[in-house]
Amino acid sequence: MTRCIEANVSTLRCETEGHLTPYVTFIGDTDMVTADLGSLSSIISAEVVLAELKTGETFNQPSDMFESRINKLLERDDLRFVHLRRIDQEDIPAGLSFQEYKKVYSPARLVFACPRCGADCFAIRTESPKAFEQRGGKLKLIGDLTLRE
Ligand SMILES: [Zn+2]
Repeated sequence: MTRCIEANVSTLRCETEGHLTPYVTFIGDTDMVTADLGSLSSIISAEVVLAELKTGETFNQPSDMFESRINKLLERDDLRFVHLRRIDQEDIPAGLSFQEYKKVYSPARLVFACPRCGADCFAIRTESPKAFEQRGGKLKLIGDLTLRE
């Protein structure tokens, strides 16, 4: 049975070299829905490859089993797993009124490691898969997967 998955595509930009990397975030009601899905980003073009993980596969460096399996399968060497480095969240002082809280609140910022140079990189845009493809991006699905519009 074809598995229907939901995802957004972000464009990450690194702060030192300005490298742009497409990055897919899977959307699910629970972690169970997306736990066995993985995505790899090309370091040479605006392309993301999505696939299901096999049992026991991990994203851990230095030996990323998923990354090496998919590169081998597609006879490529430009696909990388993009690692989340940390989450920046400003401290919000206790005891604020809701109005004050709204003024100081900023959403948590995800900091990734640029797959090209290792510098910190951040999402500068997040869009639907369709919008990403309309801008010339490519999404490649491996196996019996389809993306929900
Ligand atoms: Zn970079």
